[in-house]
Amino acid sequence: AIPLVVAINTSLAARNGMLVRDRIAMEDARKLDAIIFDKTGTLTEGEHGVVDMATVDGVDKDDALALAAAVESDSEHMIARAIREAADERDLSAPDASGFEAIKGRGVRANIDGSEVYVGGPNLLSQLDSEIPNHLQHFADKAGQNAQTVVYLVRDGELIAAFAMADVIREESFRVVDALHDLGIEVAMLTGDSQDVANAVADELGIDTVFAEVLPEDKDEKVQELQDQGKLVGMVGDGVNDAPALTRADVGIAIGSGTDVAVQSADVILVQNNPMDVVRLVKLSKASYRKMQ
Ligand code: ADP
Ligand code: MG
Repeated sequence: AIPLVVAINTSLAARNGMLVRDRIAMEDARKLDAIIFDKTGTLTEGEHGVVDMATVDGVDKDDALALAAAVESDSEHMIARAIREAADERDLSAPDASGFEAIKGRGVRANIDGSEVYVGGPNLLSQLDSEIPNHLQHFADKAGQNAQTVVYLVRDGELIAAFAMADVIREESFRVVDALHDLGIEVAMLTGDSQDVANAVADELGIDTVFAEVLPEDKDEKVQELQDQGKLVGMVGDGVNDAPALTRADVGIAIGSGTDVAVQSADVILVQNNPMDVVRLVKLSKASYRKMQ
């Protein structure tokens, strides 16, 4: 009878937009103690727009934005797109850039007019050992409290501008967190974004555990951290960066237009980009396997 139950369960899952790559994980979903969500693009829309910027003395805002757009011209990151769009909206033409390099989980760099220019988040600043001038620190603090992501422009080692970008929490995310709590499941969030932004989003949603400023190569360690507490852990993500964490999780869940790498690392793929399907998955697992115990 067991194979029949499993067969029914996977076809039922498929009809609900869930592709099951690992049936054991599907069975484990009903026993999850904690579920970790990637923040950007999973709990939030992932559509950043530049809402504010600040520069150091002697640096023109338009020049800074054009420079940042040039550094970002080769990047597919959502932050890159937002910066290029902001430059376009102001009809700024980006200076010529070469020698593009992506620094995973930190930012990007390029050569422009004989200078080495970087755009990136707090993780980048710590790597470059760049100091933040007081008024830019103030700007970043204020943005962070408003859940805005801040990226910095660094030219030849000097931090010359900061950009605040707004993302919005997906409406479904509120219901997801509540429903998982009702099922007795701890909800955690994992992000490369700053602690400030992560805390603001977590407070808003009522998330229990926050892992912020995590580099891509360290994401799976956070899954392990909860597992070491004896918890059965699910991970929900969509990016290339999330793949090791999806693999490490007891139930790895790729969502929406997940990258190939994420999809191949996951046990279950949620075809529709709806985080509420995570709740449906747990409920379906409970309903299907209860009979078998
Ligand atoms: P997440 O974990 O939220 O999906 P990523 O690992 O993609 O984030 O990026 C982590 C952080 O690295 C971003 O919040 C940003 O600060 C910085 N970063 C990554 N790529 C870029 C880029 N192209 N331009 C500017 N900053 C970037
Ligand atoms: Mg992501």
